[in-house]
Amino acid sequence: MQNACRDIAATICAQRGWHVLCLSCFVPTLQPKTRGSLPTLRRAARDCRACPIWRNATQTVFGEGSADARFLMIGEQAGDQEDRVGKPFVGPAGRLLDEALASIAIERDDIYVTNVIKHFKFEQRGKRRLHKRANAAEIDICSQWLQGEFNAVKTRYLVCLGALASRIVFGRAFKLMAQRGRWIALEDGRWALATVHPSSVIRARIGGGYDEAYAGFVADLKKMKRLPD
Ligand code: SF4
Repeated sequence: MQNACRDIAATICAQRGWHVLCLSCFVPTLQPKTRGSLPTLRRAARDCRACPIWRNATQTVFGEGSADARFLMIGEQAGDQEDRVGKPFVGPAGRLLDEALASIAIERDDIYVTNVIKHFKFEQRGKRRLHKRANAAEIDICSQWLQGEFNAVKTRYLVCLGALASRIVFGRAFKLMAQRGRWIALEDGRWALATVHPSSVIRARIGGGYDEAYAGFVADLKKMKRLPD
């Protein structure tokens, strides 16, 4: 009963932008912070209870990398292996990303890498944990951690992997497949580039379009070698 009440309170509060507090159960939850150094944000995010996703996850998967990194790269949600290890992009999509970056001579150390959603949301099917999309309220509230990372990582160059990250950075009207692979100036003076999420390249194996999908992904990432001023 208490958990159900807390879930409802968290969803309503997230939708309305309120501080999350369930009065009937007296269970306060922590509001994501948007200011502070990366270590401060990481510590605070460890105990985040601002939406219900944390409950079934193992741990928070915060971003990884230096505040002085040349690029800030944004994925979608922590996945199964990220949840177990506690680091972003350590699963199959991360390995494909590493391979693509290595092919264009860009090191992971050049990049601060993170996700919009910092806990793994899934549905249990037997022994398998199937990825489940975060809802609009969860995206809204969790992206405040991302805002904190935007503030703490000083680079002028953002790279969005997939539709969710692109929508957060460019807005709802952004059309990923039509506008991918080019640097676009943001209002705050930064530049951002969007491409597909590496997991979509992996999924292309099933339909037989893997080579084309991988080549397109690498071609988009290659723009990281030609930065606008
Ligand atoms: S998914 Fe995000 S907002 Fe929800 S509990 Fe985890 S860190 Fe907090």
